[in-house]
Amino acid sequence: MSKIKPQPGIMDIELYQGGATHVEGVSNVVKLSSNENPFGPSPAAIKAYEAGARSLHRYPSSDHAELRAAIASVYSLDGDRIICGAGSDEIIAFLCQAYAGKGDEVIHTEHGFAMYAISARAAGAKPVEVKEQSRVTDVDAILAACTNKTKLVFIANPNNPTGTMIALSEVERLAAGIPEQAILVLDGAYAEYVEEYDGGAALVDARENVVMTRTFSKIYGLGALRVGWGYAPKAIIDVLNRVRGPFNLSDAGLRAALAAVQDQAYVNQCREANAKWRDWLSHALAAHGVPSDVSLANFILARFGSDEEAGACDAYLQSQGLIVRRVKGYKLPKALRITVGDEASCRQIAHAVGQFKGGAR
Ligand SMILES: *Cc1c(COP(=O)(O)O)cnc(C)c1O
Repeated sequence: MSKIKPQPGIMDIELYQGGATHVEGVSNVVKLSSNENPFGPSPAAIKAYEAGARSLHRYPSSDHAELRAAIASVYSLDGDRIICGAGSDEIIAFLCQAYAGKGDEVIHTEHGFAMYAISARAAGAKPVEVKEQSRVTDVDAILAACTNKTKLVFIANPNNPTGTMIALSEVERLAAGIPEQAILVLDGAYAEYVEEYDGGAALVDARENVVMTRTFSKIYGLGALRVGWGYAPKAIIDVLNRVRGPFNLSDAGLRAALAAVQDQAYVNQCREANAKWRDWLSHALAAHGVPSDVSLANFILARFGSDEEAGACDAYLQSQGLIVRRVKGYKLPKALRITVGDEASCRQIAHAVGQFKGGAR
């Protein structure tokens, strides 16, 4: 036996399963498996990205001052309390690395995002899964699961893959009720899709134990470039900056994100199109006997009668060139998560699900 061994916890990590991108033998697929913006990024972001091609030999900014100032201005936040990461995944990893280790507990919910448990284990800590109530975050259950070892509590609001959301008053109750050594992390990957919602930013301002994470991968359509950010009390930002690599963001990512955040007209357009077609799609599927919870995000969680039926529908959709996401790994074996695409993709999905339900296989 080799004496070379990884740190405890590492071999317990289950590899992250990304959304599929192609189907054997089918060209022209419609990818609705990763909650990407079907319209792509703002044209201004693409232009800014291209403008960087002449300075690839230069290291990028290490303090991200320009991007942080732009985010601060658009979202009315304090730029000194923003940290940028290679996707919000990296902010999640920084939090675990800096605040959780051997013997510590990191809480996530039953159908919560996979990266919380992965990053907790990578830091040597123990992920603790808490039940949801019919696919909705259950604040009382989380509070009951807290111990003197709890260091981080992760919730996504709206949540992925359920699409459901809890009220800010509930989030406040959670922040006030967790033990004093713990931090509440509000993952706002889909916050821009919710009208009149600050992602919990005011709560970050009001308290010392709340952190908000955000991303450029979803409504901003820049998943390829890996840009995310966090908003936290100054003391926590000072800690996270110590574990952050100096050049964790690429110049291309910084340029594109800066232009993207400054084009809020485009963001509003994407939010409106998403809301319209999300509601259309959920009604169309319900009419075919496939219900879903009210989603506040850019996807819906379509529920089938059984594990087998969900699998069969997934296979049928694939045969039609439509790629959606099975969410067995999220303890939802009877469901398929379907990203809200453009009008044409929504109509295609509804048509195909109707055919499947009508007996086509
Ligand atoms: C997509 C997603 C993210 C964003 O990840 P990035 O690393 O920023 O691309 C974070 N949290 C949740 C819940 C997500 O669904």
